[in-house]
Amino acid sequence: MLDRLDQQPPDALLALIKLHDADPRADKIDLGVGVYRTGQGETPVFGAIKAAEQKLVKEQDSKSYLGPEGDMGFVHALMPYIFDGEDPTIGGRIDGMQTPGGTGAVRLALALAKACGVSRILMGIPSWPNHAQIIKDLGLELVTFAHATDDGAADLAALEAALSDGREGDAVLLHGCCHNPTGVDYTPAQWDDIAQLLEGSPVLPIVDLAYQGLGHGMDEDAYGARRVIAAVPEALIAYSCDKNFGLYRDRVGALYAMTADTESLARVMSNGYALARAAWSMPPDHGAAAVRLILEDEKLTAMWQDELDQMRARIRQVRDRLGTAGQVGSVDLTPLAHQNGMFATLPLDKDQIAELRSEHGIYMAGSGRINVAGLTMDNIEKFIHAVSAVAS
Ligand code: PMP
Repeated sequence: MLDRLDQQPPDALLALIKLHDADPRADKIDLGVGVYRTGQGETPVFGAIKAAEQKLVKEQDSKSYLGPEGDMGFVHALMPYIFDGEDPTIGGRIDGMQTPGGTGAVRLALALAKACGVSRILMGIPSWPNHAQIIKDLGLELVTFAHATDDGAADLAALEAALSDGREGDAVLLHGCCHNPTGVDYTPAQWDDIAQLLEGSPVLPIVDLAYQGLGHGMDEDAYGARRVIAAVPEALIAYSCDKNFGLYRDRVGALYAMTADTESLARVMSNGYALARAAWSMPPDHGAAAVRLILEDEKLTAMWQDELDQMRARIRQVRDRLGTAGQVGSVDLTPLAHQNGMFATLPLDKDQIAELRSEHGIYMAGSGRINVAGLTMDNIEKFIHAVSAVAS
């Protein structure tokens, strides 16, 4: 039986890591992997996480099973940051459950949508490649539209057209902020329009919020999700703490559901639990417990927010420098200054990307996506020169 399986291609980014690791050049630059890097090129554990972990080791008295919903203290502690701070449950219509990372949350959101009759997912492309993989794996139909225009802005008209064709049984998957892989976000004014378009539309909104706090700030980055939630009766929000708490491998995420009335909420969540039970039974505890300890403690919260602020400021500094480089050969870097988060997609072809790697030791995804956090004030000039050399 097993020999019927075809060889699957290796994950392109993991293959890129191997190539980068094998490159002996001291000034090589890794812009492939999607993790934050400091100005020294490191991805350290947050100080607030270290402190919370110490507390956890000291205070945790059992590792007995929780349940498919995971650590509900964690799930609820996050809610005022994501939703309306005054009334994060929106009158008792929102609840959540812990998931293995944002990937688990996206998977569960799509599976829950499928379970209630959704068959088509409307999604702007390019998108995080795993979105399409999960949609395919669940047997859902993917209907695509352009996410961004050629000049590096969000293509609201394309979303508008997709939504106007939307029907009962459709869901739309939107990136809440810091779009992966383009960095191109809807502006607040565009989110206002999107909220209006969704109001009265039969299309179920699913918002993937994987980078809150890495764009303009925790509140600012929640604007889109909050506007959508205020406009519609029902929505699903997939959340990741793996970037804004630096917890990548600890797999910390949550799925939130907003229902049309308070009575439906427990029933909808019970479906989430049943799907989780059949998939992973329950989520890993450690990272979520550390996040909960941070959010329950004012000092640790302040420490985390400070670390997140530094992260965001560094990303902005790199983006500003790239933006002021302006036109570099055939590539206009100007829009990068007003795009958000760790990623940007450069209009480079396969040969140019290969030349950046072979001639300049610069590693980026084959799609032209770069992780701007892979650049530092020490290597950014080299990068700009290299782009101008290959894209002349
Ligand atoms: N959504 C998007 C848009 C992402 O970019 C990612 C991570 N690359 C995720 C979800 C999943 O994140 P996690 O690592 O928490 O599973």
